[in-house]
Amino acid sequence: MVSKSFGRILLEDVVRMTNVSQTSHVGGCLSCLDIVNVLFNNVINIDSKKPKSKNRDRFILSKGHTSAVIYSALANKGFFPVKWLRTFFENGTKLPGHIDHKVPGVEFSTGSLGHGLSVGLGMAMSMRNKKIKSKVYVLLSDGEMNSGSTVEAIMFAGHHKINNLICIVDKNQFQALGKTDDIINLNPLSKKWESFGWNAYDIDGHNTSEIKTALLSAKKNSQKPSVLVCNTVKGKGLKDFEGRLMSHYRPPSDDQLNDFMEGLELIR
Ligand SMILES: [Mg+2]
Repeated sequence: MVSKSFGRILLEDVVRMTNVSQTSHVGGCLSCLDIVNVLFNNVINIDSKKPKSKNRDRFILSKGHTSAVIYSALANKGFFPVKWLRTFFENGTKLPGHIDHKVPGVEFSTGSLGHGLSVGLGMAMSMRNKKIKSKVYVLLSDGEMNSGSTVEAIMFAGHHKINNLICIVDKNQFQALGKTDDIINLNPLSKKWESFGWNAYDIDGHNTSEIKTALLSAKKNSQKPSVLVCNTVKGKGLKDFEGRLMSHYRPPSDDQLNDFMEGLELIR
């Protein structure tokens, strides 16, 4: 039997979890899934046996509503039992819909948007002051670029050259109520980050080799904070959901889940 790749496990878990719970945000989970796959499988230094190690890398999911993909990553890396995923979003669950710091491996609760980068910046500064060599990774939505607190953190980190801070923007071109281009145009996004003193990578957020190369390069950069502007597709991989605003809200139906799983079997 061929063992499943980490990315394939994340994909199955996210679509199943949102179907079973009949809850929102499958679109934003799928747009950042390839990023999470590479980050958790190849880059970030975390260990479920030493979850509070002083020298661990820190990860903050600023787009806290897409918790399903991170819960899957953490469960499959051994931070808590995979069977917890079956209770996602239920009343009384250990895995609430917006990511929760009480879950093993989660550094910070988010869901009220626009806070993750400022918190990550504070962690990175503290670690730098204590001579801890680890990195802080923050996964941000493109909609959060509208938040003043995000822009303040960008300015501050660039000015103070907080080089242990790595931000990843899931640029799926949608936010809750429409297209980012229509609400507040962000382009040219990577040039804006560069103008504030960041080292920027503008990449295909579904190309795992591009993601890995950029993350490993960002880790080595010793002069500036780094950002990966990842061009992604909301609902990536789920028929009828790709590139559609409704994927922010609508969960996959039972038929859509079955079609999806059958499709995965065909391309194995
Ligand atoms: Mg978005």
